[in-house]
Amino acid sequence: MSLRVAFDMDGTVADMYAVLRKVSEEIFAAPAGKGAAAADAEAGESSAIPGPSVDELHLTAAQQRQLWEHVGGIENFWTTLPEAEPGIIARIADTARRRRWEVLFITTRPSSAGDTTQVQTQRWLHAHGFHLPSVFVVPRSRGKLADALQLDAVVDDRPENCLDVAMDSKATPVLVWPSTSGAAPSAARHLGVRTVGSITEAIALLERMDDERRQPAVVRRIRRMLKRESRD
Ligand SMILES: [Mg+2]
Repeated sequence: MSLRVAFDMDGTVADMYAVLRKVSEEIFAAPAGKGAAAADAEAGESSAIPGPSVDELHLTAAQQRQLWEHVGGIENFWTTLPEAEPGIIARIADTARRRRWEVLFITTRPSSAGDTTQVQTQRWLHAHGFHLPSVFVVPRSRGKLADALQLDAVVDDRPENCLDVAMDSKATPVLVWPSTSGAAPSAARHLGVRTVGSITEAIALLERMDDERRQPAVVRRIRRMLKRESRD
């Protein structure tokens, strides 16, 4: 049976943060300081922010709302991002074709001017080498989606999304967590989240998972026995 795998978009395969950093520098003249978020919390800014988390930019909640409002007015903004790793979309497409994986892309992107978020995302994936991509624009919980679609793995850059997947589905959550970000959250390790340093590593991990699934049951049993013995 084909491996069924979902990839998150922003921060995972698309480098949204680099572009948003530039946009925020333009609209706020200077980047906000690291203490901005704390100052915002003290000011009681608590209404919902209409986009993926952008904690990396150290903006206040009010600035994040302003940023998303600005992005919402940019024609087909979601087609303008660079890949997180050059050529990674074509590599995902090639691997999926070769191994007969079923792949979908999931995102919480808000809408921007121009085409719908789904169509913009599909056009971006197509332009980078993934033809006929399946794209789901979903609210925050990824676990229920992974469960409903019987996914085998979900690749995401957010620990909270990976924990969702671990709690609500049988899919393996794969957290993309570069070593420059420090140690991955320990809760993720305890809940069976697999952590990798890059999307390239995520693909290699998925290939190993695929290889294991293709082995006859007796080989898998022997491998598990050997693993247990080597631990004892
Ligand atoms: Mg993300």
